[in-house]
Amino acid sequence: MAAILRKSHQRLASQLSQQFSRSMAAFTSARPGEPTPAISDAHKGPTGVLEIPQRFLMGPGPANADPRILAAQSLPLLGHMHPPFLKIMDEVQQGLRYLFQSDTKYTLCASGTGHAGMEMAIANLLEPGEKIVVGNNGIWGTRVCDMADRFGAEVVNLQTATGTSFSLAELTAALEQHKPAVLFLCQGESSTGVHQSLAGVGEACAKNGTLLLVDTVCSLGGVPMYADAWGVDAIYSGSQKCLSAPPGAAPLMLNDKALQKIKSRKTKVRSYYLDLNLVGDYWGWFGSRSYHHTGMVSMWYAMREALAIVSEEGLEAGWVRHEQAHKALWAGLSEMGLHPFVADPKDRLVTVNTIKVPEGVDWAAVCKNAMDKFSVEIAGGLGPTAGQIWRVGLMGYNAKPANVELVLAAFKDGLTQQGFLKA
Ligand code: PMP
Repeated sequence: MAAILRKSHQRLASQLSQQFSRSMAAFTSARPGEPTPAISDAHKGPTGVLEIPQRFLMGPGPANADPRILAAQSLPLLGHMHPPFLKIMDEVQQGLRYLFQSDTKYTLCASGTGHAGMEMAIANLLEPGEKIVVGNNGIWGTRVCDMADRFGAEVVNLQTATGTSFSLAELTAALEQHKPAVLFLCQGESSTGVHQSLAGVGEACAKNGTLLLVDTVCSLGGVPMYADAWGVDAIYSGSQKCLSAPPGAAPLMLNDKALQKIKSRKTKVRSYYLDLNLVGDYWGWFGSRSYHHTGMVSMWYAMREALAIVSEEGLEAGWVRHEQAHKALWAGLSEMGLHPFVADPKDRLVTVNTIKVPEGVDWAAVCKNAMDKFSVEIAGGLGPTAGQIWRVGLMGYNAKPANVELVLAAFKDGLTQQGFLKA
């Protein structure tokens, strides 16, 4: 029986192939009468199966993805409005509530990287002419100033010395002085390695009629976040760091107050793609589901799996794992005579570690050696820290002892070549 079926399949395939060849030979134009220029092969695309070298992504991101998450992305596509896919979106929203530690109904993933979450938050929470105080202690604050300005907001750029965080007193003074619609803070400033405390900030914001917006791209899942208990009104994040997924999803949450602000806008959100009144309706925020843009089907599978991994490990266990990796890294780096860029230990971000480049050491040569010899990515500084520091990410799937040891071996080798360590 099987042999007969195989034969009939073969016959059918051969007939189809002959028909296809005949129709190709007869191809002149999709529309009768239109001229048909010769096809140019000048820019013929790539051929052959894609191959990628194995790298240990120990910079500030992306981090290596968990293979379980990559496997989820290779599952068959579903339609973006099919009920089984909508159920996966529900699961993502639920997993995000756990991750943010919030009972809010309003969670989703923006289709894009962390910047999509950033721009979505700014575009929706601010109306032209409204004021935002940006707690700017690195490149992310600078970008938020730029974005808010583009959306017509009045920007107050509140700065602090590079490598330090804002005190509650400084933030409270700025809130009282400016009474802004929004206060922006970056919990994990990846350009400097600073961890901004949020304790008490939500309360100070509420007293001044301000919404608190927090960037957690480099920190969510790696350090504590208690959105409801801390009174954080809006958060955005990224998939490719402590959540161990590829880049392409920006988790976002709003509490009731933040949603109310958007619902009572006097002006339309200036970006159609990022308008939460519309995107929220695709994610079921308002009791129905309507098509806005095609959901990132495989990416949402990845997020579903990433959030399952977070739930299975437990938030606290995850935070502890990140902290232990950070401690093990610093035990090794200190032994080599290296020092943290962030002076105050309580301001040090465990997920992105910033290391001072010692006098006379060529930081770029150390990075190059790590990549060439160990396939390990170690990054240099960015923005205000360019040329002064190295950055080592210990995030998600990479926050584990074997990766820490590999990074330490790469530093030891590079610093020995530089003559900083004795051979
Ligand atoms: N915020 C922070 C703190 C980041 O570290 C990053 C990425 N390095 C971003 C925002 C922007 O994210 P993305 O590159 O994914 O757009």
